Amino acid sequence: MGFRTKVTLLYVGFLTLIIIAMSAAIVGVVRPTVIASIDKSLRSVTETVRPNIHVVSATQPDSVGAAIHILGDEFLRMPGISVQVWQTGNDRSNVDPLLIASSRDLEGIEEALDPLCVNLTQVTFSDVSPQFSLNAMPLRVMTHPIVTADGQHVGVVQVAASAMIVDDLTDYVLSLVIVVAVVGVLIAIILGWAVAYEALRPLQEMTAAAGHISTSNDLSTRLPAGLPNDEIGKVARAFNHMMARLERLFAVQQRFIADLSHELRTPLTAIRGNLDLVKRYGRDQNAFDAIETETIRMTRMVDEVLLLARVDSGHVEMQLRPLDLDVLLLDTFNILFSLEEVKDRNLNVKVDKLEKLRVVGDADHLQLMIRNVIANAIRFTPDGGEVVLSLCSRDGRSALIEVQDSGIGIDQNDITRIFDRFYQVDSSRANRRNAYGAGLGLSIVKWVVDSHDGEIEVESELNRGSTFRIVMPLAD
Ligand code: ADP
Repeated sequence: MGFRTKVTLLYVGFLTLIIIAMSAAIVGVVRPTVIASIDKSLRSVTETVRPNIHVVSATQPDSVGAAIHILGDEFLRMPGISVQVWQTGNDRSNVDPLLIASSRDLEGIEEALDPLCVNLTQVTFSDVSPQFSLNAMPLRVMTHPIVTADGQHVGVVQVAASAMIVDDLTDYVLSLVIVVAVVGVLIAIILGWAVAYEALRPLQEMTAAAGHISTSNDLSTRLPAGLPNDEIGKVARAFNHMMARLERLFAVQQRFIADLSHELRTPLTAIRGNLDLVKRYGRDQNAFDAIETETIRMTRMVDEVLLLARVDSGHVEMQLRPLDLDVLLLDTFNILFSLEEVKDRNLNVKVDKLEKLRVVGDADHLQLMIRNVIANAIRFTPDGGEVVLSLCSRDGRSALIEVQDSGIGIDQNDITRIFDRFYQVDSSRANRRNAYGAGLGLSIVKWVVDSHDGEIEVESELNRGSTFRIVMPLAD
């Protein structure tokens, strides 16, 4: 069963239950109300009749044995009133009830309005359908006992009214309720179906869009904008958001693969070229050096790509623990400082100031971060230039690492892009010393900085030098 059918059925089902409950309540209220109203009028007729009945003690009846006398009989001739006065003998004697008087509409009828109640000694209301009434019409009968001054029950007054209206009204209300219920349910089915269709339309569009994506691989597919701000609208917006993210990720992935293939092709071509030279002309030191350089470059690139791939798939976990940042920086600095390249090129690589600061971080990744930044500074600084490392506290809450060089600098247009994967400034790409880079080092730096809730900024001027500043929160 479809979702739309389920929603409609549920909606109509609840509505039907409510209508049935309301109908039962209406019928349940109407019937007793009408009966109460009839009883009230029966009471008032009885009150009119009673003063006209004179009662003597049943032990002193008149010559014909009657203990009940009717004083005036006008009330018996009043139209619309059905009354019978019955004498039943006193409490001890057990004689047949004797009809003393009856209203004009009951003339000639010897049967009691409600024979079962003639001998009762308290006020009673009953429903009967006597045979003598037209078509056994239902009657509502009030039986009121007649009592002597000394408390003897000598008879009853029975007053009746037609109860036809009770059944008529109940039938009428019932049929009205049934008609309203049927029309209401029909309208509910039509409305429910239409509302469910309208509400579920975005879902159908989503299904169609998902189907389109799976058949055409078109990640630019989106659901129409301007959906209402309800649950389904939110699902549709989340769907669009997800598609936008997927499209972006897919594009990044494709660019990454294209860049990687491109970057790998250069060293491979160089290796093959140099191998050809060796094959053709025999051993050649320059060719071997070139092969070694390209191999190192490829190895570094593959290492970096692997690390970034693991980062992307969420498989790299930071081992965060408190550590002395100054010790870590100095260790890394010393490794780079002692490089042959630094000595050969007459570079002035030094530490300016080094405050004792503690941070919470992953030692290996922080080392990789600082090594990449200092290595870049060394690489992009001409012979005889200067590279200065410093560490100090900022506001007493963060650590500020600064790597300053007097190198080639970075153009303002490139500064925002140097953290992108595989991005290399064209001028530095041609740089001989950049043979080892593939444009991934700063992407890794950025990831490490972000993972430590830090920030990185660059200040640079072409041909004057660059300053890389990394800010990290201090340990508590
Ligand atoms: P690479 O491994 O190629 O150096 P990076 O991601 O580390 O890749 O750096 C990206 C680019 O940013 C470099 O190719 C270079 O053009 C530029 N760059 C980075 N550091 C410096 C610096 N200290 N001075 C000048 N240019 C730099």
